[in-house]
Amino acid sequence: PTVPTNKNSFPCSNGTTLPLTNSIINLDQGDPVVLGTYWKKMSEECTVVIKGSDLMSYISDTSNVCWFMLPEMSDAIKRLHSVIGNAVTEDKHIVVGNGSTQLFQAALFALSHSHSSQPINVVASAPYYSEYQEEVEVVRSRMYQWGGDAAVYDKNEPYIEVVCSPNNPDGTLQIPVVRSEAEGKLIHDLAYYWPQYTPITHQPDHDVMLFTFSKCTGHAGSRIGWAIVKDIEVARKMTRFVQMSSIGVAKESQTRVAKIIKVICDSYQNYGSVESELFFEYSKSKMRERWEKLRAAIGQSKIFTVAKFPKAYCNFTNESSETYPGFAWLKCEEGIDDAEGYLRKLKILSRGGERFGVGPNYVRLSMLASDKVFNEFLVRLSNAKRDI
Ligand code: PMP
Repeated sequence: PTVPTNKNSFPCSNGTTLPLTNSIINLDQGDPVVLGTYWKKMSEECTVVIKGSDLMSYISDTSNVCWFMLPEMSDAIKRLHSVIGNAVTEDKHIVVGNGSTQLFQAALFALSHSHSSQPINVVASAPYYSEYQEEVEVVRSRMYQWGGDAAVYDKNEPYIEVVCSPNNPDGTLQIPVVRSEAEGKLIHDLAYYWPQYTPITHQPDHDVMLFTFSKCTGHAGSRIGWAIVKDIEVARKMTRFVQMSSIGVAKESQTRVAKIIKVICDSYQNYGSVESELFFEYSKSKMRERWEKLRAAIGQSKIFTVAKFPKAYCNFTNESSETYPGFAWLKCEEGIDDAEGYLRKLKILSRGGERFGVGPNYVRLSMLASDKVFNEFLVRLSNAKRDI
């Protein structure tokens, strides 16, 4: 694929336009706006109307462990997983949260021992999602503490291992790696286990699985995540945590997300009678296209390298394909030690390897920005020189 030349300009808040070529482009956060064009076409179908008197109560369903979850939210989540085949939900409890960020903390709370004198160690294999460490450390909890890289954890003390697959930042498929004899618990973060990012090869059936709508469809602003939990006591404690931190999750968001999930599932189940392109087919081809362009740009400048991912058969799309991660994890060529600093000179904001528990010669960049920003990034990357 050819790398686009930049002819675009970037709208500013004061109504003027600034040529994108002069501006800073932010690929540090993974703000998933890439699929905005698709959802613009689907605007009508996905509209929800909420009247002045609707959704006033804190409570949704007192017969459910997660009493603030709307029944249509829980039904939509189960239906989506059964259409995609990317998680077992039968005989499980679902806990909805304000993004999976809140549920990660809820899971730490639920899996730690509240009466233990020693905080439990939370580990993840490096490179790990930088927010795990920050979310563990921010509260200086007496229940849990950050324990670093799971691959080198050798303490004979209880631990919680977070397994992120496909992994943020490097897109690899992960399994637990801790070898300690001590009691260990697992949190599986499956934020990117959706067909646009990776082939759906199996139906995970773990004790605690976290998913987020942010990375499923790109509606990060709705702040909806969910946990699929085997043990009712763990689900109860997680629900209690969400209650203590936000007394539930906005019903407006739950209503909207349930509607969008319904539109997606209906389109797969009524395939043939639907005119618009199917969501996961569209988003997968978009991610594939971006990865092909990225590899071409990297090949042109030869400043960075990026791993190749193995192919696998996807049970959902019925084709064999690679992983197309939501982030690019780049390694600098010899002689450049500070990858983030190098990109800053090109006015590209990224996140350096040290935040992920590895060296500064690695860097993470979002693959989920708007077309305009992503294309400008490719122009800058493909023209990059060793000495700048
Ligand atoms: N886990 C991973 C691996 C992520 O990349 C993200 C978002 N960047 C989250 C969890 C949290 O997502 P949210 O709070 O938007 O649901």
